[in-house]
Amino acid sequence: MARVNDTRTALVTGANKGIGFAIARGLGAAGFTVAVGARDGARRAEAVERLRADGVDAFGVALDVTSDGSAAAAAAAVERTAGRLDVLVNNAGIAGRTDGGAQDPTTLDLDVVRTVLDTNVFGVVRVTNAMLPLLARSDSPRIVNMSSNMGSLTLRTGPVMAAYAPSKSMLNSITAQYARRFAGTRIIVNAACPGYVATDFTGFDAPRTPEQGAAIAIRLATLPDDGPRGGFFDDDGPVPW
Ligand code: NAP
Repeated sequence: MARVNDTRTALVTGANKGIGFAIARGLGAAGFTVAVGARDGARRAEAVERLRADGVDAFGVALDVTSDGSAAAAAAAVERTAGRLDVLVNNAGIAGRTDGGAQDPTTLDLDVVRTVLDTNVFGVVRVTNAMLPLLARSDSPRIVNMSSNMGSLTLRTGPVMAAYAPSKSMLNSITAQYARRFAGTRIIVNAACPGYVATDFTGFDAPRTPEQGAAIAIRLATLPDDGPRGGFFDDDGPVPW
């Protein structure tokens, strides 16, 4: 029988390292039970152990965001273990293969685009829709999609990344469509930009810490009921689309 947890529960995808791990730790410190979504069993178990050592009520959930079956099984696992879900942070993301540190649109391998979209965009839709029945039972459901200012059509920042940057533009657009769909409901969805953060993703060559990168996601995951909907935010406020 499902254990009904009376503490709020958050699922973070790609929570075994980097910004996702820091989000998991921050939400745990804020009192959430944290479901650590990660695709690799050993990395997941190690992250859960580290979080528990830090006093977080964490449990592992096997989750490969590129698999429909894995997303469905993850929803069943959250239901079975916590009996509820209040927050979903879609953090898992990949840059995709680069050539000389960039993805040149004039020589773009479309398989790279497909791979990046499958994780960064389709993965978010897949996991969100699998979790929605659980989220809909919460009093204050929140969904945070981890985007990037590289997806901003206004800013056009960072290296030329013709697979990764458009994947985040599309993620922003999907976020806006979900927000329209959730208008008038309790479900609040927003996109977050963590800034330029030292993780595996950046070869640990970036100025911000994972904790700094996690802060905006934690803020959006814990918005009050009258908080903003369907926006794109970093630590300084709205990011131009
Ligand atoms: P990271 O250290 O490379 O971590 C990425 C996480 O995503 C890992 O846990 C990874 O798991 C997971 N992941 C990748 N593919 C997955 C899949 N198919 N299923 C489940 N999990 C998967 O990167 P990060 O810097 O923390 O980035 C986290 C998010 O922030 C990403 O969405 C990224 O686009 C975004 N972001 C990062 C920066 C930055 O400066 N770092 C800037 C803007 C936006 P494995 O360990 O199994 O590979």
